[in-house]
Amino acid sequence: MFDALLIILPAAAISGWYYSKTKRRHRRQRKQSARWSKDYLAGLNYLLDEQPDKAVDVFIKMLEVDSETVETHLALGNLFRKRGEVDRAIRVHQNLIARPHLDKAERTQALLCLGQDYFKAGVFDRAERLFHEVIDAGAYLAEGLRYLLDIYEQEKDWDQAIQIAQKLGSVTNTNMNPVIAHYYCELAEEARLKVSSEQAARYLKRALSADRNSVRTSLLQGEWEAESQQYKAAIRAFKRVKDQDPDYIAEVIPHLVACYEKLGLETELIAFLRQCLDEVPRISIVLALTESLRHWRGAEAAIAFLTEQLQLRPTVRGLKHLIDLQLGLEEEISSKEKFQLLDDLIQQLLQDKPIYRCVHCGFSGKVLHWHCPSCKQWNVVKPIQGLEGE
Ligand SMILES: [Zn+2]
Repeated sequence: MFDALLIILPAAAISGWYYSKTKRRHRRQRKQSARWSKDYLAGLNYLLDEQPDKAVDVFIKMLEVDSETVETHLALGNLFRKRGEVDRAIRVHQNLIARPHLDKAERTQALLCLGQDYFKAGVFDRAERLFHEVIDAGAYLAEGLRYLLDIYEQEKDWDQAIQIAQKLGSVTNTNMNPVIAHYYCELAEEARLKVSSEQAARYLKRALSADRNSVRTSLLQGEWEAESQQYKAAIRAFKRVKDQDPDYIAEVIPHLVACYEKLGLETELIAFLRQCLDEVPRISIVLALTESLRHWRGAEAAIAFLTEQLQLRPTVRGLKHLIDLQLGLEEEISSKEKFQLLDDLIQQLLQDKPIYRCVHCGFSGKVLHWHCPSCKQWNVVKPIQGLEGE
């Protein structure tokens, strides 16, 4: 850091001086040059004494703000921010904003930069005010709105996030409705904990009207209906997921099986699972059908079905289930031990594997995040498909 300061600060100061010097009269210039070389040496001394804060003050003072040096100030502040030296970035940008002769465009740009400084420092209330000021001035609309959205998401202020997302959608002509549906889901979950189930249900309705393909809405609705023993309503909600986004079908299969069983509708369950398997072949559906077969027709029939399905679409989870079934049938001790060893090995293999992966940044884990913890995008973490997944 110190080495870079030795270059950045004097260079910025000198370049600012260079741009402005042609405007000075010769006599004044000579006088100023003398002061400059004195200040410059003082600044360098502070740097060499490892007192960079004092050096910054000296060099900023040297960079007299005029129309020629505004860009230099902005760039210097941004450079500090990018290097993580947010306090200095704030000082440079504040110094710029304090100058009375800035034109409107320069002032707005400086406000945006200062907002970014405070945002980076985590001082969200100040950043928020600055971004609003920038947007009210009619400049940097998309940029300002994106920062505000980020702030409201981090503060979990979902009402504000919805308003800003709607504005951002119209400013950038992008569809923000899938994200807005998540905000309503967040409000619904909060309301269910702190207000009432009715209020939560109202938010879910809004989520679904914002985005009728909101898988999260269907999952929440299904889970809450099932908790209230409204199994038919729960089944209707869970079933929507197959058409909303079939990649998430594995999330609803165990819930659907439980609801159908509660209602004693095993035949309907098998019919639904078979229909699902035709449309969306996934191992979760195969395993649910295998278990159903084992229950109604015995292990032999289940093994035959699973073996046939694994030949079509092999997966590690399917193989593990097949070994479990075989283990249950095996009577000979030595064969049983071999199957058990194989079963344990596959179990260990599966334990180390993630279940979900972000299609945007590749982040993976065992928990379904609707908002990727790594790239901060919504709707991008999905169950892993293929041999090691679904
Ligand atoms: Zn991601």
